[in-house]
Amino acid sequence: MPPMTDVSPHRTGEVRRDDLVRWLNDYLKINAYPDPSLNGLQIEGTSTVTRVAASVDTSVKTLQHAADSGADLLLVHHGLFWGDALAVTGPHRTRLQTALSADLNLYAAHIPLDAHPEVGNNAMIARALSLENAQPFGDWQGHKIGLAGELPFEQSLQDFADRIQKLTGEICLVHGGGQPTVRRVGILSGSGAGAVAEAAAAGLDTLLTGEPEHKHFHESFEYGVNVVFAGHYETEVFGVRALAARIEEEFGLPWQFLHHPTGL
Ligand SMILES: [Zn+2]
Repeated sequence: MPPMTDVSPHRTGEVRRDDLVRWLNDYLKINAYPDPSLNGLQIEGTSTVTRVAASVDTSVKTLQHAADSGADLLLVHHGLFWGDALAVTGPHRTRLQTALSADLNLYAAHIPLDAHPEVGNNAMIARALSLENAQPFGDWQGHKIGLAGELPFEQSLQDFADRIQKLTGEICLVHGGGQPTVRRVGILSGSGAGAVAEAAAAGLDTLLTGEPEHKHFHESFEYGVNVVFAGHYETEVFGVRALAARIEEEFGLPWQFLHHPTGL
């Protein structure tokens, strides 16, 4: 029988870091994807977490901002490690020192946070667009981490781009290689410029992604698929925000989004 209380042990506004990390690792299925990012707790700070900060990137600025805001844990999409051994020198040293001297925990969730069905970048964008019949789309080393589906109504490519601009607050780059109307859309946050062939094979008319890449420029026109580039940063603000809100729901911890746009 469950204990006769409706006070969840989580709803204290304070949680042990190890419990939070265990919950995050499990909720995000942190080991489900091949990923050069060292997903999970990257820097160990204080053992109790009462306040969370979230940002897209890890930099001296975001770490310092998190420390100054009184956060005990900074949640990021892009962490400190990408598969290479790094000497603790230069800016890397400054980043570590900034976190360590503030006793700040750093938790990174990269591909697991693109792909997550509830709080993932792609799921959040799909929800904002009311995408219907969403199916997995966007290959990442054998895993589909994005979503493809249909808009509730057809709209012009211009109107679609305007809508995305409203969603992110930034100007999009549009490569109009496909038809002038948008209905079937693939969403792949961040670096999805290489997904045009996959979008064409899936019968999509438009690919929405983050960052353009020169080598893929012609594919939009050759495959006849529109590509809307809404920014690597701007398409990846959604996941960390939604995850921080989910942590608040689960553990009662206040959180803050630290906006440090890159313009890319
Ligand atoms: Zn990214």
